[in-house]
Amino acid sequence: MARYRGPACKLCRREGAKLFLKGARCFTAKCAFEKRSYPPGMHGRSRRFRRKTTDFGTQLREKQKARRMYGVMERQFRGYFKDAERRKGVTGANLLQILESRLDNIVYRLGFAGSRAQARQLVTHGHFAVNDKKTDIPSYLVKPGDEIAVRGKSKQNAYFESVAQEMEHRFVQEWLSVDISTLSGRVLALPSREEIEAPLNEQVITEYYSR
Ligand code: SF4
Repeated sequence: MARYRGPACKLCRREGAKLFLKGARCFTAKCAFEKRSYPPGMHGRSRRFRRKTTDFGTQLREKQKARRMYGVMERQFRGYFKDAERRKGVTGANLLQILESRLDNIVYRLGFAGSRAQARQLVTHGHFAVNDKKTDIPSYLVKPGDEIAVRGKSKQNAYFESVAQEMEHRFVQEWLSVDISTLSGRVLALPSREEIEAPLNEQVITEYYSR
């Protein structure tokens, strides 16, 4: 599956919000958004080129923000939206629930990676198993009760040895459980909207696709 390979910080500046795409760096003074919180490009800084935003513009930006946060390309994101529409409940909340169920997001939320991009790479490199079965597809959707674990051989990897120490200080959300001694975690339930930490307005995204 294709993915965006350009500069991550440019995306934050374009969306006018910190999307936390680069792990620990996002919390330091080196964060590009802290230094240049205006859109990228030649005229990003100029007031003259700041236009009034239309409803469509607002909806588009919110949708792009969500896509970029979770590292999903347009076609797949649209597919998620259609899936969300088919499910019972509020479409916007369903959409976020689907995005949160992606394996790369779960690996990130469990603390095995500092960012979703890093989690994606760890997954594609075959370091994880879901219910004891090697799974190297970042978009794999996990279900409540699934166990996500670092695979046997990978546990000896220096990266996972150091990450285990860091994980002791990380907060894990209530809908997930983690066992640092076995480098594994479990999805206890799919998260409700209140449990999803994402500065997104899912209603506006729904409006974008309902035009
Ligand atoms: Fe965004 Fe992180 Fe880059 Fe800051 S450091 S601009 S939060 S990706």
